[in-house]
Amino acid sequence: MESGGEKKRMVVVGGGIAGSLLAKSIQFNADVTLIDPKDYLEITWASLRNMVEPSFAERSVINHRDYLTNGRIVTSAVIDITDTEVLTSEGRRIAYDYLVIATGHRDPVPKTKTERLNQYQAENQKIQSAYSIVIVGGGPTGVELAGEIATDFPEKKVTLVHKGPRLLEFIGAKAADKALRWLRSRKVEVKLEQAVDLNSASDGSQVYKTSTGESIKADCHFLCAGKPLASAWLNETILKTNLDKSGRLMVDEYLRVKGRSNIFAIGDITDIPELKQGYIAHKHAMVVARNLKLLLAGGKESKMSKYEPGSAIALVSLGRKDAVAQFPFTTISGCVPGLVKSRDLFVGRTRKQMGLQP
Ligand SMILES: Cc1cc2nc3c(=O)[nH]c(=O)nc-3n(C[C@H](O)[C@H](O)[C@H](O)COP(=O)(O)OP(=O)(O)OC[C@H]3O[C@@H](n4cnc5c(N)ncnc54)[C@H](O)[C@@H]3O)c2cc1C
Repeated sequence: MESGGEKKRMVVVGGGIAGSLLAKSIQFNADVTLIDPKDYLEITWASLRNMVEPSFAERSVINHRDYLTNGRIVTSAVIDITDTEVLTSEGRRIAYDYLVIATGHRDPVPKTKTERLNQYQAENQKIQSAYSIVIVGGGPTGVELAGEIATDFPEKKVTLVHKGPRLLEFIGAKAADKALRWLRSRKVEVKLEQAVDLNSASDGSQVYKTSTGESIKADCHFLCAGKPLASAWLNETILKTNLDKSGRLMVDEYLRVKGRSNIFAIGDITDIPELKQGYIAHKHAMVVARNLKLLLAGGKESKMSKYEPGSAIALVSLGRKDAVAQFPFTTISGCVPGLVKSRDLFVGRTRKQMGLQP
């Protein structure tokens, strides 16, 4: 078993949006170990821009070592937890005094930053060399990718196919309508209530059949289906009874896993009924960082900060200038919300939060 020095041992499982900020914020207060299957933090919402402009990924894919200067990084997946340690897929046991679970969504991406940058180059080549492209899935990923391609490659024929009755089902119908109108105005063909049979084009015919019997001729496709939660690994652990029906970890108002005094959970994996957004994952990280600093300094549990869910904002970018934004009482689209998100996709801001040059 590995253990640290005299400082309390803090293990953060998952180096995504939430876990990376937490690890960075607590690194000088505890003996921190960050465990992630990849050696970098990816600013997830920049990934579609990276496909049309691979050099953008230089700033949005960040080595964990760049911001975690005083912590240990273990590049591996965690597969089990006991009351005192975590077990990685390579069989390493890492002891903890405090544990934070931040495994968000499962995304089978490459292990190193270099491999990830090469992957974006390859995806860009695929876009460049295609005349016609099918995008499968009309959630935020499919809509943002269609927007990026329609903006940077207006000569390409893009077809977006979604099996649900409307785009962007995670937010309201008004926002979805505005996105649909924007895409159609950019000549993106949007087909709703149809599923694409990806096997139908595997014979090299480049004809994609849909569930309603339509055929779409296209040079290539991108699958933009929603990613599953990365919580299946908890099913056989001491936390199996802390998962709700959809596989989210049930937490108390301090973001501790319910019934556990030294295990916290943050980000998309938590069962808090709110929109799952990165800026909210950051808020979780800051609350838990505060609570951990208090506990590490010997403070009383009763003095811990509570997490109060607020009303959420959702922003979906539509190319480089436009976006659709859903606020609690209104929905707007065009260049005003575009100014907020679409030019830099919050990359500079996120880098600054991580203590890096924007
Ligand atoms: C297209 C798109 C656009 C978006 N736009 C925005 C936006 O504009 N603004 C916004 O605020 N949010 C946006 N979001 C949402 C945002 O990306 C998520 O809410 C955020 O990534 C959640 O952070 P997280 O840390 O909980 O999970 P993730 O970022 O999913 O990170 C999970 C981490 O856990 C790791 N992991 C998984 N399993 C294991 C394991 N077994 N052991 C160890 N590590 C593991 C993964 O490698 C990963 O590093 C967008 C999402 C998408 C898909």
